[in-house]
Amino acid sequence: MRIILLGPPGSGKGTQGNLIENKFGFPKISAGDILRKAVEEETSLGMKAKESMDKGELVKDSLIIDLIKQRIHKQDCRNGYTLDGFPRNISQAHSLEKIDAVQNEVVIDIRISDRTAIERLSSRWICSECHSIYNIDREDLSKNKRCERCGGKLIQRGDDKPEVIKKRLAVYHNETEKLIQYYKNKGIYRAVDGQSSRDIVFKRICSIINKSYNKEKELEALT
Ligand code: ADP
Repeated sequence: MRIILLGPPGSGKGTQGNLIENKFGFPKISAGDILRKAVEEETSLGMKAKESMDKGELVKDSLIIDLIKQRIHKQDCRNGYTLDGFPRNISQAHSLEKIDAVQNEVVIDIRISDRTAIERLSSRWICSECHSIYNIDREDLSKNKRCERCGGKLIQRGDDKPEVIKKRLAVYHNETEKLIQYYKNKGIYRAVDGQSSRDIVFKRICSIINKSYNKEKELEALT
């Protein structure tokens, strides 16, 4: 089973992807994390990607597609996986179908307003060690800026600056949003209201996944 998380920056795709992984055991594959790792490791691909990422633009399809392909062909993805941040345009969606033509696929679009996205991203801090996500408006966190889980240093992502956030949202509206109609046409698009709390959003997502998973089992039983 493949779950694709759609939604603007700040909609909670990473957070929900982690919750899905814990509950259902489908590994979360984050295109942004994979690219940030390549940047950190200063690979030649990472250096190429960095320029676009710093500006809030998409990196070239050719850079990300191979990385995703390598990741989804690993053993742990054989029963299913969740994609966060891929595909981000129609051409990446076509590539994904070629890389791995799965039977059961659901696209979950976590909807939030631009205003919420800007508010969330400007106060988002992440652990430099384990990548846990925090909202720095919390007074206790803003004082010592340490991760509650592993004690790692909390840092702000370079692309969570106001001007880059605006660009990322524009890219989302101009390119990624086209995927909504694309997946509606395929009959696999589901939307959830992402403005509510993390747990409420997760409940809605679980109910979508369970329905889709049960359908998969019913089909398997017939064949
Ligand atoms: P967000 O969804 O919050 O904007 P991500 O961590 O998913 O953040 O992505 C950060 C950056 O990485 C993007 O702004 C873009 O430059 C690059 N990126 C991530 N996924 C893709 C992709 N599928 N195609 C091209 N670029 C990508």
